[in-house]
Amino acid sequence: MANSYKIGVIRGDGIGPEIIDEAIKVLDAVSVKEGFTLKYEEMLLGGVAIDETGVPLPDETINGVKKCDAVLFGAIGGPKWDTLPRELRPETGLLGLRKEMGTFANLRPAMVYDELINASTLKSEVVKGVDIMVVRELTGGIYFGQPRELLEDCAYNTMIYTRQEVERIAKVAFEIAMKRNKRVCSVDKANVLEVSQFWRDIVIEVAKAYPEVELSHMYVDNTAMQLIREPKQFDVILTGNIFGDILSDAASMLSGSIGLLPSASIGEGVGLYEPIHGSAPDIAGQGIANPLATISSASMMLRYALKEESAADKIDKAIKQILAEGYRTGDIGNYDAKEICTCSKMGNLIADYVSK
Ligand code: NAD
Repeated sequence: MANSYKIGVIRGDGIGPEIIDEAIKVLDAVSVKEGFTLKYEEMLLGGVAIDETGVPLPDETINGVKKCDAVLFGAIGGPKWDTLPRELRPETGLLGLRKEMGTFANLRPAMVYDELINASTLKSEVVKGVDIMVVRELTGGIYFGQPRELLEDCAYNTMIYTRQEVERIAKVAFEIAMKRNKRVCSVDKANVLEVSQFWRDIVIEVAKAYPEVELSHMYVDNTAMQLIREPKQFDVILTGNIFGDILSDAASMLSGSIGLLPSASIGEGVGLYEPIHGSAPDIAGQGIANPLATISSASMMLRYALKEESAADKIDKAIKQILAEGYRTGDIGNYDAKEICTCSKMGNLIADYVSK
């Protein structure tokens, strides 16, 4: 019998609904081709949830996502809700959802499409062929450590990692490396911080279960420099919450456009798959958003949550091919474009390609 999966769909605000429409178009096309079934369940989050229910993260969404095989998410937020108190803001809803889902690992690929090599701010010979996966610990470290306090004459936060937290994120990185080029670079500040020495020691222990994977260590300041100097040296970068926050943003800009890059937040339960960009209120409703980051996130969902790797490969190949043929949305329209297309046309092109 054909596999069947339940997908939670959160469109959100701004361009969220438009880009999700295109990702679903592509998912429908590839599932028919590959012989599995996707059932979608729509859920509310962010500004649209505030408008309809009064809160940014309704209970139905919290309960609903837990019953799904994976969740595909567009983006939330916009000026309409910016003046609300913090606990009622769309962004608070998203942070709450991630916490509820227990997604402790954030996976952010940074790849450079050959066809868009000129979109990067770095020289083409530096970025050509870049294909990095940043694995960032998402629910521990200094962002969550206790005690923390803002006093009149001083303020402090605590950077703390437990053995269990480091082990589980390290395993995610090694498992991913096994499916890629089998290299993990663990990034820390072990020359200065005890918590980083601890992190390093545990990563070395976890690595023993993955003899095929080559493990290296790098200090975070050097990594920031190496990402700009010679990004091709990296395969999987494994790092903690604050270092990963900074490094994944730097790495994402190697590709040249925020509209291209996907992400996944995974844990022990259901994972959340979403583009790295926000709700782009400045272009919402105009039909010009780039849906490729969301389509790519749908591909990550197929690969990591549903294990439908052949379908994911088909989508990744389609994106490359359509870019190679010169189709561009406006955000990447300055780079070797044959035709500037709408969000919807870009979705149609990818869907048609995966149906071939
Ligand atoms: P943004 O990522 O929404 O937009 C930044 C710039 O990139 C804008 O000029 C926008 O038009 C452009 N852009 C973004 N995605 C694009 C796409 N797919 N195609 C073409 N152009 C695209 O960031 P921002 O302007 O700082 O934030 C806007 C809203 O999004 C805010 O309310 C913010 O809180 C929210 N936000 C949400 C998320 C999320 O839902 N995960 C993430 C970041 C920001």
